[in-house]
Amino acid sequence: MTVRMDAVGNIFGRVEGTDSDAPVVAAGSHIDTVPTGGNFDGSVGVIGAMCAIQRIMAKGKTKNPMEVWVFAGHESSRFGFAHLGSRCICGFTEIDKWKNLKDTTGKTVPEVLANRGLHFDQIAGCKRDASKIKSFAELHIEQGPILEDGNLNVGIVTDIAAPIRLSIKVKGTAAHSGTTPMRSRHDALVAAANIVLAVRQRANAEASKGIVGTVGYMSVKPGAMNIVPGDVEMWVDVRGNDFDLVSSVIDNIKADAQSAAEAEGVKVEINTISSSHPVHLSDELIKLSEDACKEQKIPYTFMIGGGGHDSQEIGQIIPTVVLHIPCLKGVSHTPEEFASIDDIMVGIDALTGLLEKLAR
Ligand SMILES: [Zn+2]
Repeated sequence: MTVRMDAVGNIFGRVEGTDSDAPVVAAGSHIDTVPTGGNFDGSVGVIGAMCAIQRIMAKGKTKNPMEVWVFAGHESSRFGFAHLGSRCICGFTEIDKWKNLKDTTGKTVPEVLANRGLHFDQIAGCKRDASKIKSFAELHIEQGPILEDGNLNVGIVTDIAAPIRLSIKVKGTAAHSGTTPMRSRHDALVAAANIVLAVRQRANAEASKGIVGTVGYMSVKPGAMNIVPGDVEMWVDVRGNDFDLVSSVIDNIKADAQSAAEAEGVKVEINTISSSHPVHLSDELIKLSEDACKEQKIPYTFMIGGGGHDSQEIGQIIPTVVLHIPCLKGVSHTPEEFASIDDIMVGIDALTGLLEKLAR
């Protein structure tokens, strides 16, 4: 392969086909992870793509060129936004917003890139010409229990669910925990606790329609044993594959937050951090993936992808599919994350079959 890195740190490995004008058949994923994350999320799709292309090339050159894509900055854990690299490939950049975001050490996105010899001021040039790309496929661990529970090897993802995320700030009155009578308290954390429960109840009410809702972060200030909390900030993540339903759950949570605040005599400030639309993946690639599984007698199913993938960006400009493989007990983003080499190889068999159909 010839290998290059673009200005934001995406890596592209390319093998030429026999027709230099034919559009690229691409596959890949990301190799970054979250703090205390596992070894398989993302990496399986990068190594899988390399392995699949190597197998195909061993049988002789294809018509179309093939590329392995390794996305930079997939996870949102460092700067609070996800899919930096894939969004640059699609041209979905937010340069003014991104350039001022800081990580917990105070470094900005441009500074972090510069430390790696990369160039924030050139990221607009990372956009790929979609007309020259035929397809993109991402092999990925499921990060959920459906395949393992069903004894299935491949989950062909038809839609990727997307989150609406809120920041909810609760402003109460910090006060002495010993001298402030219960009746005169405006405890930000008590209101916040009720908002957390409201997120759970609203998500439970629509769970049969694929809605999930989580409060995954909270800060409590001043944050001392002997002070009634005055300020709380929490981040809410609600997702599903029906944008209107996700929106209505969010509206209900906002109303519940107002009621919880009024009951405690505190104020809430609600801001939408991000609002993404679910993405339907390529019907043609879904069909070809199914054919590849059937031909190799690989047990498969169709599924909704609940985790965020770079494919939800790429899928907006290039025909895209995601193939899930089982992972142990469905756990991910922890060191216990595990996929067996046998399961990975069956996933690579499916990916190989798919890429060969596309490129040959
Ligand atoms: Zn991932």
